[in-house]
Amino acid sequence: MGWSFPIGVVRGTVIRIHLTFLLLLAWIAVTHGLRGGTDAAVEGVVFISLVFLCVLLHEFGHVTAARRYGIQTPDITLLPIGGVARMERIPEEPGREIAVALAGPAVNVVIALLLALVLGGVPAPEVMAEVEKPGVGLLQRLFWVNVFLVVFNMIPAFPMDGGRVLRAILAYRMGHARGTEIAARIGQALAFGLGLLGLFGNPLLIFIAFFVYLGAASEAAEAQLRAAAHGLITADAMETRYESLSPMATVGDAVEALIRTPQTDFPVVDGAGRLRGVLTRDDMVRALRETGPETPVVEAMRRDIPAVNVRVPLQAALAALRSVPGAPAVAVEDVAGRLVGLLTHQNLAEFMMVNALRSGRGPGTAASVGNALRG
Ligand code: ZN
Repeated sequence: MGWSFPIGVVRGTVIRIHLTFLLLLAWIAVTHGLRGGTDAAVEGVVFISLVFLCVLLHEFGHVTAARRYGIQTPDITLLPIGGVARMERIPEEPGREIAVALAGPAVNVVIALLLALVLGGVPAPEVMAEVEKPGVGLLQRLFWVNVFLVVFNMIPAFPMDGGRVLRAILAYRMGHARGTEIAARIGQALAFGLGLLGLFGNPLLIFIAFFVYLGAASEAAEAQLRAAAHGLITADAMETRYESLSPMATVGDAVEALIRTPQTDFPVVDGAGRLRGVLTRDDMVRALRETGPETPVVEAMRRDIPAVNVRVPLQAALAALRSVPGAPAVAVEDVAGRLVGLLTHQNLAEFMMVNALRSGRGPGTAASVGNALRG
């Protein structure tokens, strides 16, 4: 996800923080500071940080449950409306998906129960309104935040956990793609409703609506891609005509190739036909600015390129692409490990478009694309 940067790694999962979350922290500090001075500002930031610790623990609930089914989570991004755990794949079995979806809210139920135990009972809901009392009511408020996290996340719409549960239940009857489409539609309708409410009331709702809408849209696109990939192998979708660079080439040579061809990313391939890395347009720009056109491409390129065999299912190649954050492409190799093709975001998008047109119903109908390819 753009506009975010890493703050730490826990058991192989990179924790990233979105820029808008830092803006939220600054906003809380300023509004609290204006009302109650420095103490209030510090307390506001401490409170929001504790809230995000609860959100992070919620995400690790999902991560731990997914790991039980052999699914790794390359990164978690903290957004102002919560966290997003990006898993390398979604469990195929609806029962497992429900277990992974429920593991997050379950963590907040446990935190709320522990807080109630420490506080000697359920705190009065009015504490949420008492923001002006510094120190007092911090744990009480944290209790209600966890209750809210459970309720909000169980709304049966994408991208909330409740949407995943709904999708899994629908998937039993109508398949994964159609279930996702319905859950995503409900999510987008909900986002419009929230946005409308926000216009007449709390502007924070518009903010939440924005992220809910984006989350639902990206879930729908993901499901569409998975449906189109069903039953195909990597060789069916990969790009085979591209220009590659020699490991001896310089960034200056790469810039010439960039101008000469429609390509933006260039594989660096050695004499034995093996991929050494990929040089993107961004890498070239950075190298030109920092070290100049004489920089060898091997010093400027990205080396963490996921690779798959040409015969593996296309869905496995998509999972490989997801497994490396920000990877420009998947290298497609033959049995000898030689590069025979590339799977890039751009050629996947084109592949999706062509498939949608071939199904005769125009782009944007996930289920029809999936069914056409299956049948
Ligand atoms: Zn969750």
